[in-house]
Amino acid sequence: MMRDIVFSPEKIGNAGNELKEISRAAGRSDFRIVKKFIDARHRNDIKIVYRIDDEPLNEDTEALALPYKGRKFDKTKRPVIVGFGPAGMFAGLILASYGLEPVIIEKGRNVSRRTEDVEGYKNGLPLDPSSNIQFGEGGAGTFSDGKLYTGVSSGLKAYIGNIMTAFGAPADILYDSHPHVGTDNLINVVRGIREKIESLGGTVCFEEEMTGFTTGDDGSVSSVITSKREIETDKVILAPGNSSRDLFSYLSSRKGFAIESKPFSIGVRIEHKRKDIDIAMYGFDTALYRNICAANYKLSVDTSNRKLYTFCMCPGGEVVPSASIPGTIVTNGMSYRARDNENSNSALLVPFDPKEISDDPLAGMRYQTELETKAYELGGSNGLAPYCIFDDLKNGRSGSSYSRIKPTYRPGVCAADLRDLLPSVFTDTIREGIDIMGRKIKGFNCPDAVLTFVETRSSSPVRIVRDKETYESVSVKGLYPSGEGAGYAGGIMSSAIDGIKCAHSVAQSMIL
Ligand SMILES: Cc1cc2nc3c(=O)[nH]c(=O)nc-3n(C[C@H](O)[C@H](O)[C@H](O)COP(=O)(O)OP(=O)(O)OC[C@H]3O[C@@H](n4cnc5c(N)ncnc54)[C@H](O)[C@@H]3O)c2cc1C
Repeated sequence: MMRDIVFSPEKIGNAGNELKEISRAAGRSDFRIVKKFIDARHRNDIKIVYRIDDEPLNEDTEALALPYKGRKFDKTKRPVIVGFGPAGMFAGLILASYGLEPVIIEKGRNVSRRTEDVEGYKNGLPLDPSSNIQFGEGGAGTFSDGKLYTGVSSGLKAYIGNIMTAFGAPADILYDSHPHVGTDNLINVVRGIREKIESLGGTVCFEEEMTGFTTGDDGSVSSVITSKREIETDKVILAPGNSSRDLFSYLSSRKGFAIESKPFSIGVRIEHKRKDIDIAMYGFDTALYRNICAANYKLSVDTSNRKLYTFCMCPGGEVVPSASIPGTIVTNGMSYRARDNENSNSALLVPFDPKEISDDPLAGMRYQTELETKAYELGGSNGLAPYCIFDDLKNGRSGSSYSRIKPTYRPGVCAADLRDLLPSVFTDTIREGIDIMGRKIKGFNCPDAVLTFVETRSSSPVRIVRDKETYESVSVKGLYPSGEGAGYAGGIMSSAIDGIKCAHSVAQSMIL
């Protein structure tokens, strides 16, 4: 039987053992938690709800993930996967589980060395274009908040959650209504998945970049060309993420290859005091309670220009330097599992369709680079990110320094005018939209809210066109564009799901 066990924050917030408290309130201990959520409809009567089920779970999540288990496959050639982000990792795990020994090519470094590179860049060392927040083991999501919620509905979510918990993600990601892993755990999760793939016969090759591919007489893929060698294969899952600009350029330069521009969004990161957001959302500071996470929000408003929406909210997190090209600045956000830093941040984004400026498939990608380069120059051309406080943007001024809310971007920030970076359609939408958001969350439009820029990598600027049924590129047989970079996912969970679906298609085509 399913029922809700409801607590006040005072009752459960600092309980040493949450499970014991729930058992006591439920009157039994043989239950499973199906869902945990915060009922914040009434700010002065916040409730922490655990939905429990007394029945055991009979769901076989592996059966859904490995539908061809027990079948015999043609193992003449090893499939190749390009990119070891969520899409590539989960595609790799599935193919390796079938004994198909995938070869995975990842341009970045392994997660231990990558962690050093990311820290170095945050501390002012030069950006390594192959090992940074975008590139390396685990992909773009490794140094993130690790939010796992997605609008995509799929039974594969439970399988992905189970794999992540098996490799160190907290168990509550399986039932929390807003599951998040945190950077500190993600590092171990991605390492664990890689070791599992290797133990099943897969090979993960770091610091090796795909630079091209060849096709046979029938137009199907026949090999992958990398920075180190040529690998003969007839199945390639292409999961390079949304920042693989060299590869996108290469693909669009191939005659007749179907790649098109795709709408994405452009904007800034906004930072508030975590405590202010907590109080606006819940009426109390979550720092008072060990078991209650910093408050989350998701907003979308219409302005007289365009829509403005929040994205990738990081409660108690930090704004991170997310460029992958030297001489550019890109913002994004991350949190550790505890989400207990001073500030909460989110991206404030305005939709943009590259077709507004050109029909070139790479127009959006080029515009991203242009804005990111301009942001670098605005920041003083030394690695600092440009920022302004909301009061300046609102009143058409520039140059005021931050005060109460300290920007978390490292290596640091430099006061600048957002209007020197973005066209008025963006700045007007952001200016007007923040005030409208202030009507939904008290203090969201506080004059000293900090805006750091530029946020350009919300999703892929291109789509590599593929068949709806087989997931194969419509131009090249045997090539399976996958994940966020290919334009078919957005976020960790949906990219992982897409990677699994592509792996299913590859495996099916190899059944004897
Ligand atoms: C800082 C940050 C925080 C984020 N926070 C969240 C979050 O909390 N929740 C969420 O759902 N999403 C978040 N995202 C987005 C999420 O990370 C992406 O949606 C997801 O990682 C996309 O998965 P993917 O496998 O398609 O691509 P990616 O994760 O981008 O992985 C692609 C991989 O391919 C490699 N590669 C690229 N080109 C080549 C090549 N030519 N040869 C070989 N390898 C190549 C790259 O090095 C990279 O490792 C965040 C992103 C960033 C940058």
